[in-house]
Amino acid sequence: MPSPLEKDPGLPVSDPTVPFWQLPSHPLASTSSGRLPTSTDVVMIGSGMTGCSVAKGLLEGDPGIRVCVLEARGLASGATSRNGGHIVSPSVGDFAELVECFGVKAAVEIAEFTLRNIEMTFDAVAEFPESTLATDSKIRRTTKVLAYTDQKAFDNAQHSLREWNQHMPVNRKDLFKMMSSDEVKAKFGLKNVAGASVGPGAAVWPYLLWCGLWSLLFERYSDRLAIETFTPVHAVSEAPSGDDRPGRYVVKTSRGEIRASHVVYCTNGFTSHLLPSLRDEKSGVRSASLYYLTQDIDTGYMMLGGEYEKPEDLVCSDDSKVNSRSSEEIVKVLPKHFERSGAPQVKSLWSGIMGFSRDGIPMIGRLPEEVTGRREDGEWLAAGFNGYGTGYCYSCGLAIALMLLGKDVSGWVPSALMITKERLRGSLSTGTFWDGLVGPSVEAERSKL
Ligand SMILES: Cc1cc2nc3c(=O)[nH]c(=O)nc-3n(C[C@H](O)[C@H](O)[C@H](O)COP(=O)(O)OP(=O)(O)OC[C@H]3O[C@@H](n4cnc5c(N)ncnc54)[C@H](O)[C@@H]3O)c2cc1C
Repeated sequence: MPSPLEKDPGLPVSDPTVPFWQLPSHPLASTSSGRLPTSTDVVMIGSGMTGCSVAKGLLEGDPGIRVCVLEARGLASGATSRNGGHIVSPSVGDFAELVECFGVKAAVEIAEFTLRNIEMTFDAVAEFPESTLATDSKIRRTTKVLAYTDQKAFDNAQHSLREWNQHMPVNRKDLFKMMSSDEVKAKFGLKNVAGASVGPGAAVWPYLLWCGLWSLLFERYSDRLAIETFTPVHAVSEAPSGDDRPGRYVVKTSRGEIRASHVVYCTNGFTSHLLPSLRDEKSGVRSASLYYLTQDIDTGYMMLGGEYEKPEDLVCSDDSKVNSRSSEEIVKVLPKHFERSGAPQVKSLWSGIMGFSRDGIPMIGRLPEEVTGRREDGEWLAAGFNGYGTGYCYSCGLAIALMLLGKDVSGWVPSALMITKERLRGSLSTGTFWDGLVGPSVEAERSKL
């Protein structure tokens, strides 16, 4: 019997749970051309935040390039519109571990990259001042409170922050500060926690941000951008020798074949369905030991996620279900940790699929022959965000676009994130975490977050 990590994740299921974020569905949610184009310059597989960023970088970077996005389900309906609505850097909590695994230089580069990613996401919105993207998506600066429920985890976080303050550039030092349990209780009404790190963060309605950006790109580049939703990709192969039609790659979809000179995989936890050599018998799925919470600024609704899965359910690519334990447990979280929370009403529950890498950091770049079975040339990957894509995806997508266009990105993309044969071998897997939306009976906490 293969281990769960060796299993084919398959295609995204056709009847996923519907996140609160996705209602109502976006006008482009089911968009497609009447007929699939027969050829293009770049086929991108996946329309989440990573795919959107790659498309933006390509279309803006080359005035002649044609891009076709193939999406198995609705537009941006994967993890991108199933997360908690944060845009955050994971790096302060992880910093000591990054130093231990990759060394100080790489840890600093990675942390800088994630902090810049937040600013670049805001900048992308600001590029469309005439649009309603900023208001529709409710993108906003927030305070990120990362509270620890056990003393050992809090001690580790304090150690990580000390390392951060020792090694990060002057302008990043003291960006985050630690608060004791009493301070956290007094300021945020949080109880049953050992302490917290507090610093800058951001929040957004993720579905409206990324569908909104797709929509603006589609308006601006309608002659060069094709978006084909409900078009799962079944396989990528090389055109047979002697076939002189343009496009080295043949991408087989449910609606026929399309030829392309480049293929970019932005398929998150489903990547190893198309690239089986990336299935992993060894790497574990990092199990979450934290809940995350954001709050809608207009309705007061709280978006709460991170419920535990049983280990045997963790490696899974089916987001059509929420397990019964999660439904029962998620309502207990707010009363347990907020002083003034009543019994919350659950308005909506959903699940989502994340993609993991063995070494815990994303991987981006051109795919070698060892992975694809085809000569290294025009296949690219950005994946392995380990549940922290909002701190990485936009910049990783842009980096892929620039590399594909032949630009040097070594000045701002950490070399530790780049694909190497060693990193890629058997190193991607899938996992699922649970999300939930808790209703307005927790209104009392509204002003505190
Ligand atoms: C419940 C949950 C909570 C999260 N919370 C946080 C958080 O608090 N902070 C944070 O930073 N990150 C969080 N994340 C992670 C973050 O959402 C992801 O890292 C990010 O959205 C990844 O974006 P993506 O574009 O790479 O992938 P996705 O948004 O998953 O897009 C991949 C797309 O590829 C499509 N696809 C896959 N295979 C095929 C195929 N064969 N053919 C055609 N299309 C295909 C899928 O349908 C999907 O739309 C969370 C994720 C989940 C699920």
